[in-house]
Order: sequence, then C-alpha cells, then structure tokens
Amino acid sequence: MTGRQRSRRGAALCLAFALLLALCGCGGKDNRTGDEPKEEPVKYADRYIDLHLHLDGAITTEIALKLAAKQNIELPTSDAAELTRLLTVPEDCESLNDFLECFDLPLSLMQTPEGLEEAVYLVAENIRSQGVVYAEIRFAPQLHTDRGMTQEDAINAALRGLKRTPLKANLILCCMRGEGNEAANYDTLELAKKYLVADGGVVAVDIAGAEALYPTENYRELFERAAEYGIPFTIHAGEADGAQSVRLAIEFGAKRIGHGVRIYEDPEVVKLVKEKGITLEMCPTSNRQTHAVEDMDKYPLIDYVKDGIRVTLNTDDMGIEGITLADEFRYMEQKFGLTAEQEQQLLANAIDAAFTTDEVKAELRKELGITR
Ligand SMILES: [Zn+2]
Repeated sequence: MTGRQRSRRGAALCLAFALLLALCGCGGKDNRTGDEPKEEPVKYADRYIDLHLHLDGAITTEIALKLAAKQNIELPTSDAAELTRLLTVPEDCESLNDFLECFDLPLSLMQTPEGLEEAVYLVAENIRSQGVVYAEIRFAPQLHTDRGMTQEDAINAALRGLKRTPLKANLILCCMRGEGNEAANYDTLELAKKYLVADGGVVAVDIAGAEALYPTENYRELFERAAEYGIPFTIHAGEADGAQSVRLAIEFGAKRIGHGVRIYEDPEVVKLVKEKGITLEMCPTSNRQTHAVEDMDKYPLIDYVKDGIRVTLNTDDMGIEGITLADEFRYMEQKFGLTAEQEQQLLANAIDAAFTTDEVKAELRKELGITR
C-alpha cells in the first residue's frame, strides 16, 4: 500500500473516529472562551508543531505544478496522477538510500531564487492550512546551487519565502552526509553563523543524507565547529544506522535527534537520552517507508513516551510520503492507542525543544492550551 493510499484509509478512519468522539461527547471543537484553559478537558490534537520537515520532501503535486508554472519549467509529465506517482515514494523503495533518490524532481524545481522562495512560502501555507501552528523547515543550501545560486543566495531566497507566510516558522540549514562536499558543509556552517537568529529565520543546523553510508563519526569536527560557534543543532541519527550513531550525536552536543527511533537497540543509549533530556524528532511513516523500522507493530514511540523520553511527532517528508502531520497523529491514535494526554505531551515536548525564543514558546503553549 502506498503512503497516499494509507493516507486515504487514514482519512476514512479519522472521520469514523471523529463521529465516535462526537457521539460520546469528547474531543471535537474547541469551545474554550480563552479565560479558563485549565478547565478544558484534554482533547485530541487539531493543531500541531512540526520540528522535522524537509522542504524538498514537502513538495506536493499541487506545489510542484505551481513551481513549474512560475519558472516555466517543463515537468516530466503534465498528468497530475503520473506526477503524484513521480513525487511519492514507491512501495518497492528498499532503504533510506532509495528513498533519498525521490528528491531529485522536487529539488529541480527549487534551483532559482524565485523557485526556492515560492516553495518555502507554499509549503508553509500548505501546512498552516492543515493545522500546523509552528514549524521548523529544513533544507540544504548546497542542494540548490545547480543553476548558479550560491548557498547564501539560497538562504536569502528561503528567508524571503518565510517572511511572506503568517505561520510561525524557522529555518534549519542541513549539511549533507556524502563525499566531496566537505567544503560545502563548512560553508553552510559559516552561513548559519552569519544568519543565526533567535527566531524568525535561521535558527539551527542539521546533517541529513545517507547515515548508513556516511557514519556520524565522520562529522565530529563539523559539529565541534558548530558548538564552538554557538549554533544550535539537531542530527539525523538512529535511523538508517543504529543506537551508536545517536550516542555519538549526543556526544557531539546535539540536544535533539532526527528520528532516534533505533535507540531501543542499546539500553545504555536509552538511558543516556533520558538522563540528558534529549528530544527525539520521530516520524513514523518515514521510518516505515525507509525501513528504519521493519515491523511497524513494534514501533516504539508510545513506549518511549511512557518511559519518559522527550518524543515529538513529525512528518519528515510529507510530500514524498503522501501524508500530513494530522494523518500521523490519527495513525498513532488508531494503530497504537495514542491518547489525548499523550498527544499533549508530544506537543509540550515539541515546544520545549523548539529552536525559538521563550516568548514564542509561551505563545505556543497558550495557543495549544498546554499548561504543563
Ligand atoms: Zn529527516
């Protein structure tokens, strides 16, 4: 079953679930007056925070069509269904490495300043329409230089797109695992230092790409430099590679881990994550599609929540996966019995770990009725 098919099934289940909630008098619309948030019963989430969202993974068919039209780019097909097939991950995708190949088409639409600016704006507006109230949109400036943009041009274009949306959002600049791009990674870091703000722009760095092929250990010096510059960072780890990768990322100073789903492989790493209050940016559909977790019946998110680990729920690549963040919450409710209280915990964790100011965090807590 494709991600999109699952998404449709999820929508149908979601509707049935909403009806059930309405019948039993729980959940549903927010009737709060705004004065007594503590008296409001905890309800299933209808507003969300996405801390782990890749720009190139968030290009839906509709956005791709708009980007192509704006830039006079001829798409490989004019058929919307065929375009959707090209933009979403195939069911026979065998690994993270295969999954990463799905990004070529979206990236080809973001190689000019106007294309990249528009993409950031359209993605932000898309998720805002789906109930997201705060997002950290990440992208790798070095992947937008095919048609003459410099990394700095790319950052400026993305910032212009960000400023056009009313969504509360920030940018995370990704370095890339790989070969022959060491200088590009250090350039990204220098630009992150130059553009770093507390909110409303570039707020952190990350490293993305093929973790199993290019292990975290290779990037020790890069993150030592990031720490030296005082740049907050998250690291993709414990996804295609095991718990040891997470241990290293924590050793480098990461307070957040992209995925981290495989920490269960080493109880010592689980202990470390708990003791240090590390936040995991978990993305279930992505983990299923990249085979980071083979048996989704054993997906450990709720176990981690129960164990006191700071878990957040995110999309990773919503366009490629054919999902929304709301779909992910409904999926966790229906498949694993994620409760309204646990959802509030996930959102509280996301606010605590967000790369933004205390003022914005306070606004978000108020907006989401989070009192913890
Ligand atoms: Zn990711």
